[in-house]
Amino acid sequence: MDYSLAELPDEHLQLKNMVRDVVERECMPLELEYLKEDLYDELKPEHEPHLRKVSQDTGIWDAHVPKEHGGGGMGILGLCVIDEEIYRSAVLLPKSPVNVILYECNDQQAPTYLEPVIRGEKRTAFAQTEPQSGSDPGGSMQTRAVRDGDDWVINGHKFFISNSLACDFWMLQAVTDQEKRRRGGITMFLVDKGTPGINVTEIKTWHNRPFERATCEMTLDNVVVPHANILGEEGYGFRLGQQWLVVQDRLTRGASSLGQMQRSLDMSIEWARQRQSFGKPIASRQAIQWMIVDMFIDIQALRAMTYGAAAKYDAGDTEGDSRYLGSLIKLLSGQWGHRCLDNALQVHGGIGETYELPISRFYRNQRHARIGGGTDEMHRMVLARWLLGRDVTDV
Ligand SMILES: Cc1cc2nc3c(=O)[nH]c(=O)nc-3n(C[C@H](O)[C@H](O)[C@H](O)COP(=O)(O)OP(=O)(O)OC[C@H]3O[C@@H](n4cnc5c(N)ncnc54)[C@H](O)[C@@H]3O)c2cc1C
Repeated sequence: MDYSLAELPDEHLQLKNMVRDVVERECMPLELEYLKEDLYDELKPEHEPHLRKVSQDTGIWDAHVPKEHGGGGMGILGLCVIDEEIYRSAVLLPKSPVNVILYECNDQQAPTYLEPVIRGEKRTAFAQTEPQSGSDPGGSMQTRAVRDGDDWVINGHKFFISNSLACDFWMLQAVTDQEKRRRGGITMFLVDKGTPGINVTEIKTWHNRPFERATCEMTLDNVVVPHANILGEEGYGFRLGQQWLVVQDRLTRGASSLGQMQRSLDMSIEWARQRQSFGKPIASRQAIQWMIVDMFIDIQALRAMTYGAAAKYDAGDTEGDSRYLGSLIKLLSGQWGHRCLDNALQVHGGIGETYELPISRFYRNQRHARIGGGTDEMHRMVLARWLLGRDVTDV
């Protein structure tokens, strides 16, 4: 059941329906196997090549990649439409993992860093957070890069960096001007895996990510990176990081939450209609009806907001309201997604906690969504700044 409120353009609606068919045909049948092994985020080697080929053959793979980079040019709205459908399943159909800030690669960098990532031949990781610097990276980042001729020497410590074991290179932020910091003093470096001086160790979390996708701690001891590996402009790596976070990490989290929320609603309706207690379906009880209605309300509101903000961004609002809408959607997708999954778990009772159904897996994802990519509190701070002005909020 899809109660979309948003008026999607025809080509996006067709894309959405096509991704839905592919996910239902190719991914859903594998789901039980992945749930029982508590696998998520990574496809098994026996499934990955086939699912990647299906994604490429249908054009889903690079539908969101701009036309000038050889993709379908469906924009951030296209990415949202694809993600909503992909995330309905606990087995994720692969798509090009390109990060929007890699489009900043210059002509010398693109063949090594941008193009192989678009094709899915290389993987990246985004390294911002540090042990003492999570919510306030601009103010408290300690990792330093010092110029040495044609190179930079980086020393520091990064924490909670996802995909570090599987990536081919990091997009890593380091302080290059202690005075300027977030306003011209943090630079983004493309750091190759295997560069001497880097040590990576896994941090175990309740996501139970497979080794390759694990979240990691990373130390950098006199790591030498060529000046040519600066992504974008020297000193403007913080702004670049924000650009990715706002667009790809925050706005599209609305869509990935929606996929899990809609699937949970569909499952809750089906379960409530057939599960009996005291001689009647639980769907006949108002307590259950209201939980289902509340889930529906959250989904409708989030979908309208997410698609609306994505369309605004595609229409050219990349620096204005979209930045704040990204925070709004990130905040609400985590809060409403978590609330929606909590309701789904309650409607299902004990069966919701088993590995037979994707509910508890989705629940963990949605709870994490209130922390990763900036906590609820940080997004409230961004929104307060927007509403009240920096003059009173930045003190
Ligand atoms: C599974 C996982 C994967 C991750 N992947 C990555 C990654 O790939 N790359 C990366 O760079 N980072 C990654 N992170 C880090 C993530 O972005 C941070 O955990 C997040 O930004 C919060 O920072 P913190 O954990 O240091 O919390 P803290 O900053 O220590 O905050 C702790 C609590 O205090 C609150 N708080 C802090 N300051 C204020 C304030 N001024 N007012 C009110 N409340 C406040 C916070 O909202 C939070 O509730 C990941 C984290 C996890 C758990």
